[in-house]
Amino acid sequence: MKYANSVIDLVGNTPLVKLNSVTEGIRATVLAKVEYLNPGGSSKDRIATRIIDAAERDGLLKPGGTIVEPTSGNTGIGLALVAQQRGYRCVFVLPDKVGEDKRNVLTAYGAEIVVTPTAVAPEDPDSYYSVSDRLAREIPGAFKPNQYSNQNGPLSHYETTGPEIWRDTEGQITHFVAGVGTGGTISGVGRYLKEVSGGAVQIIGADPEGSVYSGGTGRPYLVEGVGEDFWPTAYDGSVVDRIIAASDATSFELTRRLAREEGLLVGGSSGLAVAAALEAARDLPAEAVVVVLLPDGGRGYLGKIFNEKWMRSYGFTDSPAGATVRDIVK
Ligand code: PMP
Repeated sequence: MKYANSVIDLVGNTPLVKLNSVTEGIRATVLAKVEYLNPGGSSKDRIATRIIDAAERDGLLKPGGTIVEPTSGNTGIGLALVAQQRGYRCVFVLPDKVGEDKRNVLTAYGAEIVVTPTAVAPEDPDSYYSVSDRLAREIPGAFKPNQYSNQNGPLSHYETTGPEIWRDTEGQITHFVAGVGTGGTISGVGRYLKEVSGGAVQIIGADPEGSVYSGGTGRPYLVEGVGEDFWPTAYDGSVVDRIIAASDATSFELTRRLAREEGLLVGGSSGLAVAAALEAARDLPAEAVVVVLLPDGGRGYLGKIFNEKWMRSYGFTDSPAGATVRDIVK
């Protein structure tokens, strides 16, 4: 009989699929790594598994323990899924701007949520950060993963995502492109691919216009899960050759085209990553093999990127006049 022993065994080993339509005019092969096929629906299932395994091994998480993290998105889903299988309690702290659908996904997996006001300063005792710190101190047996500094995040990609890409491309990959949020994906995959190829594989980060990785300071952009207003220690810039920044307009246009033309219903950070991959692939020869990682699916964005009213309210149209891709060569 062929079956997995638990849903955790289904994390990883996601497939590569060739992009055939959005790549018009490009000679190189562009392959998408489809991370929404992880059981929790994103690449964050990988880091959750690795972070919890390491916390158990290091004695930071003991039977009956509680995972406390400020997260509203994919990391929460990944942690909740693994915690449930191992009998841990999960308490996630969310700002009140997080919509009901996202809250419901977390509670559906059995997590508890604590909602904090958005309109307070980070140092306010009621802020998202203060409340999660306090809960982590007060709940007995609490463990706070902190995905921005936990080195098990990048390690999970070094140990799984990178080797999968190398194996599935039979070592023919020439360029790897991923959006940068905590930096765990690009740092872990980048380090592995640099090591195994003797430095030959080019590592390209995709960043929303305005975030620190492309020289900005903060968050004037709408694409979710990528870009930062600080430098997380999960990010290792030494393995990144190039950062390509793209506007929301370009990212969302590509996100919509991926659904309509490639059958890939993915989130906005996937559109961003593909925008950067196409920019990188533009002048490459036919032998080049570009792998672009698509972190999550599009179901969580139906009311936004895939909703005409929402798109129009921000001035986005199907062929955005203000669409830009900016190449920052390091
Ligand atoms: N896209 C989405 C939707 C995400 O949730 C994340 C994780 N924050 C990323 C991209 C970026 O991945 P990383 O944190 O590994 O840089």
